[in-house]
Amino acid sequence: MNLSTIGKKLSARSGILELMDDLGNAMTINPDMYMLGGGNPASIPAVEKIWRQQINRLLLSGDEFEKTISNYDPPQGNPRFLDSFAALFRTKFGWPITAENVAVSNGAQTGVFCLLNMLAGIDEKGNKKKILVPLSPDYVGYADMGLSEELFISSPGIITTPDSRHPEIFKYTVDIPAVENALIHNSVAVMLISRPTNPTGNVISDDQLLALDKLAEKYNVPLIIDNAYGLPFPAAVEQLQPPFYSPRIIETFSLSKIGLPGLRTAFIIGSKPLIKALSGITAIVGLANGNFGQRLTEPLFESGEILNISQQLIQPFYSARRRQAIEMLADNLNQTGVSWKLHQAQGAFFLWLWLPELKITSEQLYQRLKENGVLVIPGENFFYGKYTQKVSPEFATHQTQCLRISFTASPSALEKGIKIIAQQAGKACS
Ligand code: PLP
Repeated sequence: MNLSTIGKKLSARSGILELMDDLGNAMTINPDMYMLGGGNPASIPAVEKIWRQQINRLLLSGDEFEKTISNYDPPQGNPRFLDSFAALFRTKFGWPITAENVAVSNGAQTGVFCLLNMLAGIDEKGNKKKILVPLSPDYVGYADMGLSEELFISSPGIITTPDSRHPEIFKYTVDIPAVENALIHNSVAVMLISRPTNPTGNVISDDQLLALDKLAEKYNVPLIIDNAYGLPFPAAVEQLQPPFYSPRIIETFSLSKIGLPGLRTAFIIGSKPLIKALSGITAIVGLANGNFGQRLTEPLFESGEILNISQQLIQPFYSARRRQAIEMLADNLNQTGVSWKLHQAQGAFFLWLWLPELKITSEQLYQRLKENGVLVIPGENFFYGKYTQKVSPEFATHQTQCLRISFTASPSALEKGIKIIAQQAGKACS
């Protein structure tokens, strides 16, 4: 088989593909494995009931169902849905947007892939324009998205202790001067962050976001904020606040983490020309987007109910589960006497554990955990892209000392899995 350069790039054994295969195979061989590795949302019965009601509504309202499944939408998305979506942001948060600022995509993964390759890569003058990750580590799913080789550059996060009374809690912050330096010395097409961040549960502060927005303006480089876990929906965050707006920012939202990953529906807000260009790509790549997610949720966007579901059902669920998981992890690790640090858990579905005295790599610890019946994700995978500055030996070691632990499994699976993590961490650190 003779593949093109792009064909080779996209079909190569990427790190994430290996990992997902490995996780899948491990689950097949041992179905009793405690799955603390995936990005699936938790089962929240009160929310699942709403999706069931919405499907019933579709089935019972005349020929709505038939119209939904038998028609292509325009590539940008269903016009009625786009209107409701834009109106919600306009009326509830004062964003000056209309339907022309919104596009639908088949999941945020596809949306970000199209955005990145639309903006970055070889330009008309032959310059290779890069994607800058202003805070590494970030979502591993981005790492292999570039259609040209070596598109990603990244700036290592600064490790801080937000509260001196809790030295075991750390937080990565953006090294703003280093990011500015990277913008000056590289040809950068776009900056990209997930907020809340997968894998760390970080929520980059408003101040830092404003600083990034200023850099975006100064260097005319758009910033993409991936809101998969964020505000205003699904609101898997500790602190509810209005979503951040700036005309320079491209924001992506998804129905996946609200409980509908199977519907592959996400939304992108950006400038009108950007949305038009993105719709052009959708037409070529897929004609149209799946319309089921839009039809199912359209009344909830129109009425604003999507915000109530997020604030009253989803936010409290994950907040309680997050606290429960932190308590379990801290108790079990303290019993083993191992030295540990945890990233400040402000959002998303994950705890990011740092074992500073780990004697093996987190990849090796992942293998040992798998042999002992628990799946997590080794931290190495989330540090990618060529660093824009020399990293300290401490940071280089740090990259092999972290684990991502998902807390969406049932509390009993979580408890058993965490016990094994603490036991194995104890052994691997002594
Ligand atoms: N962005 C982030 C930060 C994620 O964690 C994920 C999934 O885990 C995605 C995007 C993909 O979302 P979607 O299911 O909408 O493609």
